[in-house]
Amino acid sequence: MSKNILIIAEQRNSQVQNVTFELIGISRELAKANDAKVEVLLLGHNVGDQVANIVGYGADSVFVVDDPALESYMTEPYTQAVTQVIREKEPNVVLVGASSIGRDLAPRVAARLNTGLTADCTKLEMQPDGSLEMTRPAFGGNLFATIVCPDTRPQMSTVRPGVMKRCEFDATRTAQVENIKVEFAPSRIKLVKEVKQTCSVDSIEDAKILVACGRGIGKEEHIQRAKDLAYTLGGTYCSSRALVDAGLVESCRQVGQTGKTVRPEAYLAFGISGAVQHLAGMEDSELIIAVNKDETASIFNVADVGIVSDATRVLPLLKEEIEKIIKA
Ligand SMILES: Cc1cc2nc3c(=O)[nH]c(=O)nc-3n(C[C@H](O)[C@H](O)[C@H](O)COP(=O)(O)OP(=O)(O)OC[C@H]3O[C@@H](n4cnc5c(N)ncnc54)[C@H](O)[C@@H]3O)c2cc1C
Repeated sequence: MSKNILIIAEQRNSQVQNVTFELIGISRELAKANDAKVEVLLLGHNVGDQVANIVGYGADSVFVVDDPALESYMTEPYTQAVTQVIREKEPNVVLVGASSIGRDLAPRVAARLNTGLTADCTKLEMQPDGSLEMTRPAFGGNLFATIVCPDTRPQMSTVRPGVMKRCEFDATRTAQVENIKVEFAPSRIKLVKEVKQTCSVDSIEDAKILVACGRGIGKEEHIQRAKDLAYTLGGTYCSSRALVDAGLVESCRQVGQTGKTVRPEAYLAFGISGAVQHLAGMEDSELIIAVNKDETASIFNVADVGIVSDATRVLPLLKEEIEKIIKA
């Protein structure tokens, strides 16, 4: 077994997803504890042009499995390829993004390797002996559990997108690149067609300013005002689960434990109570401004600026003031 960390890159339509660069970022930190190397496994078809990005964000080695069988994500061939490469390279740690793809792939791979998997981690720490401490929210986010995998290797973890920080891109970095051929067993499953969920999202994970809507402004006219404010500020809008469950906001805009993790420069929360499950997705925002008519609302515990008021009144006033500043 090596002491290295292997990241399973996630690509969609041949574009490596942000979570991969975030995993490389945290792996560079972890690798310092036991002088390990950061390796990335890139799977897909015609994905070779993505290697430079992976290297620039900090990989020491990139293993590429390029095969028509891997063109679109399918559980079986991806599981076979990942398992085969892990058996060959024997990494100490395997990290996978906790996306819909990663959540499908990682448990299957772990089961085939007969090893443990800690899902949905928000914090990772490496000990000098190479044992990984994996922390994840438990009991609905009310406590954090730190889990180790003492008896089997590799130590596997899925990590929530948006939680870890990527490194600065360095175009001058170099890395070892190895193409690996995988033997696929005949597939029992055929992909007939892909139907993509349409979502008008200008990615909330990448937005610098987010205006977040909660049940306190849970009417279409107020949500529209929040959208207007978001676009005036050059950002976009998101919401708590309450409005997603009510069918008022698309699920891809949900922030929190079962939604997305965001870290914008400014997070403006209107009519959000601040349940732990919501805070789990936004509390690392650089500046949090909360408007709630209840002065005891938990959102104020994480807010940098708190306004105790009726959010439906504050929204248009704020937009008006900001427009004046922009025009001035
Ligand atoms: C396993 C699990 C996972 C979950 N995952 C998520 C998740 O990912 N994301 C998430 O958001 N939630 C999640 N939840 C739900 C979470 O527990 C809360 O129920 C939810 O976040 C509440 O949303 P809210 O703050 O919009 O609504 P509420 O809790 O109902 O709060 C509404 C707030 O608006 C205030 N208000 C009312 N009217 C006004 C007004 N006119 N002006 C100003 N303030 C006003 C009220 O004082 C109140 O504080 C999860 C729950 C569970 C059990």
